[in-house]
Amino acid sequence: PGDPATETAWGEMLAEKFQWGEASRSFQVTLEKDSEWAPAHLGMATVLAGEDRPKALAAASRALEIDPSLAAAHLFLAEAALDADRPDEARKAIARALEVNAHDPHAHSLLAALAHLEGRRPDFDEAVAKVAGVNPRSGEPYRVAAAHAARAYRFDEAVALARKAIELEPDDPAAHADLGMHLMRAGDEAEARVSLERAWEEDRHYNVLTFNLLQLLDTLDKFESFESGNVIVRMHPDEAPVLRHYAVPMVERALKEMGARYGLEPRGPILVEIFPEHDDFAVRTLGLPGLLGALGACFGRVVTVDSPRARPPGDFNWQATLWHEMAHVFSLQLSNQRVPRWLTEGISVYEEGRARPEWPRESEVQFARAYGAGKAVKLGDLNGAFTRMETVNLAYFQSYLAVEMLVDRYGEGGLRALLSAYGEGLDTDAALGKALKTSLKDLQRDYDARLRERFGALAEALEVPEAVDVDAERSPETWKALASKFQGSYPVQMAAGAALARAGDRESAMASFARAASLVPLANGEGNPRSQLAELAEASGDKSRALAEMKALVAYDHTNIDAARKLALLAGEAGDDDARLLAYERVVTLDPFDSSAHTELGKIALARRDLPVALR
Ligand SMILES: [Zn+2]
Repeated sequence: PGDPATETAWGEMLAEKFQWGEASRSFQVTLEKDSEWAPAHLGMATVLAGEDRPKALAAASRALEIDPSLAAAHLFLAEAALDADRPDEARKAIARALEVNAHDPHAHSLLAALAHLEGRRPDFDEAVAKVAGVNPRSGEPYRVAAAHAARAYRFDEAVALARKAIELEPDDPAAHADLGMHLMRAGDEAEARVSLERAWEEDRHYNVLTFNLLQLLDTLDKFESFESGNVIVRMHPDEAPVLRHYAVPMVERALKEMGARYGLEPRGPILVEIFPEHDDFAVRTLGLPGLLGALGACFGRVVTVDSPRARPPGDFNWQATLWHEMAHVFSLQLSNQRVPRWLTEGISVYEEGRARPEWPRESEVQFARAYGAGKAVKLGDLNGAFTRMETVNLAYFQSYLAVEMLVDRYGEGGLRALLSAYGEGLDTDAALGKALKTSLKDLQRDYDARLRERFGALAEALEVPEAVDVDAERSPETWKALASKFQGSYPVQMAAGAALARAGDRESAMASFARAASLVPLANGEGNPRSQLAELAEASGDKSRALAEMKALVAYDHTNIDAARKLALLAGEAGDDDARLLAYERVVTLDPFDSSAHTELGKIALARRDLPVALR
């Protein structure tokens, strides 16, 4: 640790190698000594870029306030604008960097990347020539263009561009490391290993990403592979004996059904990899551990998912995730990897609903709340909503609703035409005009009307009535009076139900919970009204009511493994085989490694002579 310049340079080197924690400490130390050291603010911006975008942008802007001639900060903002799909803003930021130095090779490399993304070949060549004018052996414009092509999901192009960078600069470890990552996503693991090993040889000073990917490839070497047509499904040897019986048929079914619907035999080989360790999934997907919010990913020919063992049972429905990712294969390939985020996610969630109607609906109540609060996202802002933590769930659900509207209005043919239009490189306005003869404005009007019709009443029911504090302590009599006054209010009925149950007034409590369940029929997760009803009914000896409530809940609350286990118990006591089948099928879906559930399922199936299930 010395002067700010040295300390900052050290931090920058660590950041380049993805050592975020250490890099951050270096910049912090500098800023404590000299809070006006612009490059350290920029360094903080690069460290924060992955975890807190607004903070990162603020740090870069702070750097420019102190030193407007810090070209790297302009270029950081340009990259961020590109990531957020705002190319015009990116262009302006690059222009500011070029005002500082008209020959800045980084700025021209970014211009090359932009030109490539937008299919402007002459501009690409010009930008490359500008960099060559400064350093004819530099591969940077190709490497940067490759990185942005990869961020735009165009991995085959990224591979070709990175190879070009290596031709010019054969000993650049960054280019080899990048090429390795692009090849992983293009599905060529053998070639990826060659590139990553080369990157490692060129730079033994610890590139974490390269190191992680090489380790992961060793892990994958031990996986078992199951080939079927043009798909290879890979899974951990400990999981394969059970998981193969679910995962492989599911992938086959997805390819068959979606292949027919979208009229496409996807280009293969398609690689599906299922990871029992979430961090392995994250490294396969991003090169780094973490990525806690994601359960699956798809790059066009590569699908990665968490196995049911990667998270506690009931945390997620891995089958819904796998189905969702398989749908991305189709929307990505049909659009030449150019489908916008909202459309590809919308299609994938919509496809979940085709496989099982309950799968896409778990966010319905959450959305209705947001809708009631006036926080529904506009169609034109959906892409951006995927990049913000607070809105990402809404973005998925609303994209699904948008796709549902498109299919209602234009049929599956319309959806295919729209994907093809994007595949020609058209932007949303042009693609909608060409494929569907419509505009975003026209769609938004229809969308708003649909939201009002479908969620208006639900949103109202979810609102807490003004002047009622549902958390307050009140006498049972007061709660009863409130429940009868606010019959249309879900929060009042739920609060009254809980208070009356605590006070021992079972009958009134059940009336309130039943009212809540009818107001919000898909209320799910912990504390939902149907679980409460079942509990109260069971306590009063009304087992058939308890069974009915749990049956109704399990039918839609498809990740709730506790509810399924409870239903199995009640159904067993009542000798209700249909309900037992529903319950054990759900347990086995969520936790295929629960062998007692398998045994029970097998017994029911055998008794019914339903052999295919019994043999599984
Ligand atoms: Zn998705």
